Amino acid sequence: MTDIQELLLSRIRDVADYPEPGVMFKDITPLLADPAAFTALTDALAEVATNTGATKVVGLEARGFILGAPVAVRAGLGFIPVRKAGKLPGATLAQAYDLEYGSAEIEVHAEDLSADDRILIIDDVLATGGTAEASIRLIRRAGAEVAGLAVLMELGFLGGRARLEPALKGAPLEAV
Ligand code: AMP
Repeated sequence: MTDIQELLLSRIRDVADYPEPGVMFKDITPLLADPAAFTALTDALAEVATNTGATKVVGLEARGFILGAPVAVRAGLGFIPVRKAGKLPGATLAQAYDLEYGSAEIEVHAEDLSADDRILIIDDVLATGGTAEASIRLIRRAGAEVAGLAVLMELGFLGGRARLEPALKGAPLEAV
Protein backbone atom coordinates (compact mmCIF):
# COMPACT_ATOMS: atom_id res chain seq x y z
CA MET A 1 0.00 0.00 0.00
CA THR A 2 1.33 3.47 -0.88
CA ASP A 3 1.59 6.33 1.62
CA ILE A 4 -1.32 8.05 -0.10
CA GLN A 5 -3.52 4.96 0.09
CA GLU A 6 -2.66 4.66 3.79
CA LEU A 7 -3.55 8.31 4.37
CA LEU A 8 -6.88 7.96 2.53
CA LEU A 9 -7.80 4.73 4.31
CA SER A 10 -7.01 6.29 7.70
CA ARG A 11 -9.53 9.06 6.97
CA ILE A 12 -12.47 6.75 6.19
CA ARG A 13 -14.65 6.03 9.20
CA ASP A 14 -16.40 2.66 9.48
CA VAL A 15 -19.89 3.05 10.95
CA ALA A 16 -21.49 -0.27 11.89
CA ASP A 17 -25.18 -0.91 11.23
CA TYR A 18 -25.78 2.28 9.24
CA PRO A 19 -28.15 3.04 7.56
CA GLU A 20 -29.53 -0.37 8.51
CA PRO A 21 -28.46 -3.40 10.56
CA GLY A 22 -25.70 -5.46 8.94
CA VAL A 23 -24.25 -2.64 6.81
CA MET A 24 -20.75 -1.30 7.51
CA PHE A 25 -21.02 2.26 6.22
CA LYS A 26 -17.85 3.88 4.84
CA ASP A 27 -18.08 7.50 5.99
CA ILE A 28 -15.81 9.78 3.93
CA THR A 29 -16.54 13.00 5.84
CA PRO A 30 -13.27 12.81 7.87
CA LEU A 31 -11.38 12.57 4.56
CA LEU A 32 -13.24 15.58 3.13
CA ALA A 33 -12.45 17.60 6.25
CA ASP A 34 -8.70 16.92 5.90
CA PRO A 35 -7.27 19.14 3.14
CA ALA A 36 -4.17 16.96 2.61
CA ALA A 37 -6.27 13.82 2.17
CA PHE A 38 -8.94 15.50 0.02
CA THR A 39 -6.27 17.03 -2.20
CA ALA A 40 -4.42 13.71 -2.53
CA LEU A 41 -7.65 11.96 -3.50
CA THR A 42 -8.54 14.68 -6.01
CA ASP A 43 -5.07 14.44 -7.57
CA ALA A 44 -5.22 10.63 -7.81
CA LEU A 45 -8.64 10.69 -9.45
CA ALA A 46 -7.62 13.52 -11.79
CA GLU A 47 -4.67 11.39 -12.90
CA VAL A 48 -7.12 8.61 -13.80
CA ALA A 49 -9.19 11.14 -15.76
CA THR A 50 -6.12 12.23 -17.72
CA ASN A 51 -4.81 8.68 -18.26
CA THR A 52 -8.14 7.43 -19.59
CA GLY A 53 -8.40 10.30 -22.06
CA ALA A 54 -11.70 11.41 -20.55
CA THR A 55 -13.34 14.52 -22.01
CA LYS A 56 -15.85 14.94 -19.16
CA VAL A 57 -16.42 13.71 -15.62
CA VAL A 58 -19.74 12.29 -14.48
CA GLY A 59 -20.41 12.31 -10.72
CA LEU A 60 -23.03 10.02 -9.19
CA GLU A 61 -25.35 11.59 -6.60
CA ALA A 62 -24.48 12.48 -3.96
CA ARG A 63 -20.92 11.78 -2.84
CA GLY A 64 -19.82 11.39 -6.47
CA PHE A 65 -20.60 15.12 -6.79
CA ILE A 66 -18.30 16.04 -3.92
CA LEU A 67 -15.42 14.00 -5.35
CA GLY A 68 -16.10 14.45 -9.07
CA ALA A 69 -16.41 18.24 -9.23
CA PRO A 70 -12.88 19.08 -7.99
CA VAL A 71 -11.49 16.27 -10.15
CA ALA A 72 -13.10 17.82 -13.23
CA VAL A 73 -11.63 21.22 -12.38
CA ARG A 74 -8.19 19.75 -11.65
CA ALA A 75 -8.18 17.78 -14.92
CA GLY A 76 -9.53 20.74 -16.94
CA LEU A 77 -12.75 18.91 -17.86
CA GLY A 78 -16.47 19.61 -17.62
CA PHE A 79 -18.58 18.06 -14.87
CA ILE A 80 -21.95 16.34 -15.40
CA PRO A 81 -24.22 15.34 -12.50
CA VAL A 82 -26.13 12.05 -12.74
CA ARG A 83 -29.01 12.56 -10.35
CA LYS A 84 -31.79 10.61 -8.71
CA ALA A 85 -35.04 10.91 -10.69
CA GLY A 86 -36.95 14.19 -10.56
CA LYS A 87 -34.12 16.57 -9.66
CA LEU A 88 -32.98 17.89 -13.04
CA PRO A 89 -35.06 20.66 -14.65
CA GLY A 90 -34.22 20.09 -18.33
CA ALA A 91 -34.91 17.31 -20.83
CA THR A 92 -33.49 14.11 -19.32
CA LEU A 93 -32.61 10.54 -20.20
CA ALA A 94 -33.54 8.09 -17.43
CA GLN A 95 -32.28 4.66 -16.48
CA ALA A 96 -34.07 2.36 -14.01
CA TYR A 97 -32.24 -0.30 -12.02
CA ASP A 98 -33.06 -2.91 -9.40
CA LEU A 99 -32.32 -2.53 -5.71
CA GLU A 100 -32.44 -5.31 -3.14
CA TYR A 101 -36.02 -4.25 -2.47
CA GLY A 102 -37.74 -2.39 -5.30
CA SER A 103 -36.07 -0.22 -7.90
CA ALA A 104 -34.57 3.21 -8.45
CA GLU A 105 -34.02 5.58 -11.35
CA ILE A 106 -31.20 7.94 -12.28
CA GLU A 107 -31.24 10.76 -14.81
CA VAL A 108 -28.90 12.99 -16.77
CA HIS A 109 -29.51 16.09 -18.86
CA ALA A 110 -29.53 14.73 -22.42
CA GLU A 111 -27.82 17.86 -23.78
CA ASP A 112 -24.77 17.32 -21.52
CA LEU A 113 -23.57 14.24 -23.42
CA SER A 114 -22.67 13.86 -27.08
CA ALA A 115 -21.09 11.25 -29.36
CA ASP A 116 -17.74 13.08 -29.05
CA ASP A 117 -17.53 12.53 -25.29
CA ARG A 118 -15.45 10.00 -23.35
CA ILE A 119 -16.79 9.90 -19.81
CA LEU A 120 -15.01 9.06 -16.57
CA ILE A 121 -17.63 8.10 -13.96
CA ILE A 122 -16.74 8.93 -10.34
CA ASP A 123 -18.28 7.74 -7.09
CA ASP A 124 -17.02 7.22 -3.54
CA VAL A 125 -17.81 3.56 -2.87
CA LEU A 126 -18.43 0.69 -5.28
CA ALA A 127 -20.72 -1.76 -3.49
CA THR A 128 -22.93 -4.07 -5.59
CA GLY A 129 -22.23 -2.04 -8.73
CA GLY A 130 -25.92 -1.51 -9.47
CA THR A 131 -25.71 2.28 -9.56
CA ALA A 132 -22.53 2.29 -11.63
CA GLU A 133 -23.97 -0.23 -14.10
CA ALA A 134 -27.08 1.94 -14.59
CA SER A 135 -24.89 5.01 -15.15
CA ILE A 136 -22.83 3.17 -17.78
CA ARG A 137 -26.05 2.25 -19.61
CA LEU A 138 -27.30 5.83 -19.37
CA ILE A 139 -24.09 7.29 -20.78
CA ARG A 140 -24.01 4.85 -23.69
CA ARG A 141 -27.69 5.45 -24.47
CA ALA A 142 -26.88 9.17 -24.65
CA GLY A 143 -24.38 8.27 -27.39
CA ALA A 144 -21.20 8.92 -25.39
CA GLU A 145 -18.33 6.55 -24.70
CA VAL A 146 -17.39 5.32 -21.20
CA ALA A 147 -13.68 6.00 -20.58
CA GLY A 148 -13.74 4.29 -17.18
CA LEU A 149 -15.06 4.21 -13.65
CA ALA A 150 -13.04 5.55 -10.72
CA VAL A 151 -13.93 5.19 -7.06
CA LEU A 152 -12.24 5.87 -3.75
CA MET A 153 -12.81 2.29 -2.63
CA GLU A 154 -14.57 -0.90 -3.58
CA LEU A 155 -16.24 -3.37 -1.22
CA GLY A 156 -14.79 -6.46 -2.87
CA PHE A 157 -16.99 -8.98 -1.09
CA LEU A 158 -20.09 -7.55 -2.81
CA GLY A 159 -18.84 -8.52 -6.25
CA GLY A 160 -19.29 -5.14 -7.95
CA ARG A 161 -16.20 -5.49 -10.12
CA ALA A 162 -17.28 -8.84 -11.59
CA ARG A 163 -20.78 -7.52 -12.19
CA LEU A 164 -19.47 -4.45 -14.02
CA GLU A 165 -16.94 -6.21 -16.23
CA PRO A 166 -19.34 -6.96 -19.11
CA ALA A 167 -20.83 -3.45 -18.96
CA LEU A 168 -17.41 -1.76 -18.95
CA LYS A 169 -16.36 -3.59 -22.15
CA GLY A 170 -12.67 -3.26 -21.35
CA ALA A 171 -12.81 0.27 -19.91
CA PRO A 172 -10.83 0.44 -16.65
CA LEU A 173 -12.27 0.30 -13.15
CA GLU A 174 -9.85 2.10 -10.80
CA ALA A 175 -10.08 2.14 -7.02
CA VAL A 176 -7.47 4.63 -5.79
P1 AMP B 1 -24.10 0.06 -5.29
O1 AMP B 1 -25.09 0.49 -6.35
O2 AMP B 1 -24.60 -1.12 -4.49
O3 AMP B 1 -22.72 -0.17 -5.85
O4 AMP B 1 -24.04 1.21 -4.24
C1 AMP B 1 -23.29 2.29 -4.54
C2 AMP B 1 -23.79 3.54 -3.88
O5 AMP B 1 -24.24 3.36 -2.54
C3 AMP B 1 -22.64 4.47 -3.84
O6 AMP B 1 -23.11 5.71 -4.32
C4 AMP B 1 -22.21 4.52 -2.40
O7 AMP B 1 -22.02 5.85 -2.04
C5 AMP B 1 -23.34 3.92 -1.60
N1 AMP B 1 -22.91 2.82 -0.70
C6 AMP B 1 -23.24 1.51 -0.80
N2 AMP B 1 -22.73 0.80 0.20
C7 AMP B 1 -22.04 1.66 0.97
C8 AMP B 1 -21.26 1.53 2.18
N3 AMP B 1 -21.10 0.38 2.80
N4 AMP B 1 -20.68 2.64 2.66
C9 AMP B 1 -20.84 3.83 2.05
N5 AMP B 1 -21.56 4.02 0.93
C10 AMP B 1 -22.15 2.95 0.38
